[in-house]
Amino acid sequence: MADFSQTDIKFLAGVGPKRAEILNKEIDVFSVEDLLYYFPYKYIDRSRIYFVHEVDGNMPYIQLKGRITAFETFGEGRKKRLVAHFTDGTGFIDLVWFQGAKFIEDKYKVGFPYIVFGKPTMFGDKFNIAHPDIDPYISEEQRPAGLMPYYNTTEKMKNHSLNSKAIQKMMAAAFSSVVRNLQETLPEKVIQDARLMDLKSAMRNIHFPENVALLRDAQFRLKFEELFYIQLNILKYTAERKSKLKGFVFSKVGSYLNSFYEDNLPFQLTNAQKRIIREIRQDMATGEQMNRLLQGDVGSGKTLVALMLMLIALDNGFQTCLMAPTEILATQHYLTIQEFLQGLNVNVELLTGSTKKSDRERIHSSLLTGDLQILIGTHALIEDTVQFSNLGLVIVDEQHRFGVAQRAKLWSKNVNPPHILVMTATPIPRTLAMTVYGDLDVSVIDELPPGRKPIQTIHQYDKKRGSLYDSTRKQLQEGRQVYIVYPLIEESEKLDLKSLEDGFEHIKEIFPEYKGCKVHGKTKPKEKEAEMQRFVRNEAQIMVATTVIEVGVNVPNASVMIIESAQRFGLSQLHQLRGRVGRGADQSYCILVTPYELSADTKKRIDIMVESNDGFEIAEADLKLRGPGDLEGTQQSGIPFNLRIANLARDGEILQFAREAAQKVLEDDPQIEKPENLILRKQLRKLSGNRYNWGLIS
Ligand code: ADP
Ligand code: MG
Repeated sequence: MADFSQTDIKFLAGVGPKRAEILNKEIDVFSVEDLLYYFPYKYIDRSRIYFVHEVDGNMPYIQLKGRITAFETFGEGRKKRLVAHFTDGTGFIDLVWFQGAKFIEDKYKVGFPYIVFGKPTMFGDKFNIAHPDIDPYISEEQRPAGLMPYYNTTEKMKNHSLNSKAIQKMMAAAFSSVVRNLQETLPEKVIQDARLMDLKSAMRNIHFPENVALLRDAQFRLKFEELFYIQLNILKYTAERKSKLKGFVFSKVGSYLNSFYEDNLPFQLTNAQKRIIREIRQDMATGEQMNRLLQGDVGSGKTLVALMLMLIALDNGFQTCLMAPTEILATQHYLTIQEFLQGLNVNVELLTGSTKKSDRERIHSSLLTGDLQILIGTHALIEDTVQFSNLGLVIVDEQHRFGVAQRAKLWSKNVNPPHILVMTATPIPRTLAMTVYGDLDVSVIDELPPGRKPIQTIHQYDKKRGSLYDSTRKQLQEGRQVYIVYPLIEESEKLDLKSLEDGFEHIKEIFPEYKGCKVHGKTKPKEKEAEMQRFVRNEAQIMVATTVIEVGVNVPNASVMIIESAQRFGLSQLHQLRGRVGRGADQSYCILVTPYELSADTKKRIDIMVESNDGFEIAEADLKLRGPGDLEGTQQSGIPFNLRIANLARDGEILQFAREAAQKVLEDDPQIEKPENLILRKQLRKLSGNRYNWGLIS
């Protein structure tokens, strides 16, 4: 039987070449099947009809049944509007159009019964509905049941009369032409185990829901399917990678780790640090190559964990490297690690863009002889000229700053790929970790070193600077240091820089007795370094900066973080910035300065920051507020987030369920070769061809 679902969309009744072209371009719909997989974004219950006297200002979309008593035109030119006075006998409401007056007046007749659909808003002391949908009244029995689907359309589509209603019509045509031949896309066993609706019913109920219960089942089935195939793909790929690649076996714990632990460790490890080191040590001893993500909130002590793992590599005769996203951070790691390793006779070097040529040459040759054991640096490390004699472990700090391609290069630095650990302080919600980093194992440091006082976060309107400066002065008088951060985005760079410069001058006037320093994206690297160093050495007490200071810098004496125009930062970014303080034993403060007028969403974000110090909680909230595509770390991942129906912010449970189902399939049939699983093979092939292109993720 021919598969009609693959038919070009232009042959569908009512479409034709012109509209087909728009559908191709605007929403990627090429075939009848593509159209079927274009799902509504919302449904509105059109079964209930309200009375005009019930209308109030807080209603969503509603339906009214009644008649137009008269048309009236107000205003001139661009302000012209057409008003239809509408009543159902319980009251009057105005229907308003700002365009298309002539068309409307011709189409709708005074005195005729209509069903009007739209969102009522208050205008002066009266309610009106702007640009309502109007249908001739039909009796209840004849009206389509229940829920009305709404499809996203673009401006261009609307200009060609391809609105939601038109899509609905096309959908009906598509459905009647292919439904008989619609092939199931999941194996019978998976459907039964997960108690899913079959594909045909799911398609029917997603586009033409008979009732809410059936719609939920249809949504569940389609979301499950979408997430299931993503997980199946990741899990299969991971299993293949693990079986193909040989990993170095780090079986020994030797003198480097032991003498460090006994002689040099300045404090007790937290339980979380201990657990993670144990976990990773086991992982590096299995003979499989490790590919792991280490998440830990700012200040949780990831550097120390990294160092101890590097010592394990040395104990097993391997070299190791640590890559950081900025020169400042790399240098800081270098200094910290050198200090930790005093007296242990370990050869450590720093390699960055500004390493001198002679030093660079020395580093290159000592890497090749194997004399150099630990190399720390920026992405200068991944250049082809950097060759190791026996690289066993690569650690990448603040991985979200690196692109996929950059990270992939690390894999080829030895004959077999080294173990790889990527560390991040930007917590990634579980659902995202399972998809974006789905083939990584994940470890979480969920504990801060003892003695830290939670940072106190305060929201302050920018008109009330007086009290802000008073409390800041108190901290300065106690010998603490202060960060003041300004937003800087390219689109408004000039303005942003000006407000930073103005702010800097202002601060100098307010606090003449203290020294300030200044760093932003346009500061030359040398000068930036010098300014940072002045702050680190407490030669300057107030650092005015843009987000360049976001990552990594460690100045435990700084206790105040003032974030100007905090409304312009994302939640994760605010959390990162806040993490620059609270690194010592003193009470620290983060002050979020905003204008008085804030949108509801922004207010919510600020409130979350004030209430929570928990990076994971904040990341979850960020995901819910902004959606996965905008989160830091996902853009660079190179994975598309245009899921058709599942939503990673809301469908965490379905994702977990789908992942388990995929695991079960692979346990039973690792190569996906059993006859009953042929369908899986076919679907995977189809998906990998276009949408999910997984490569080396870390
Ligand atoms: P991050 O996880 O943000 O990279 P760091 O590794 O920079 O955190 O650690 C933050 C601070 O905590 C550093 O000054 C570090 O020396 C200190 N630290 C790390 N582990 C412990 C511990 N177990 N006890 C006390 N202080 C610790
Ligand atoms: Mg760090």
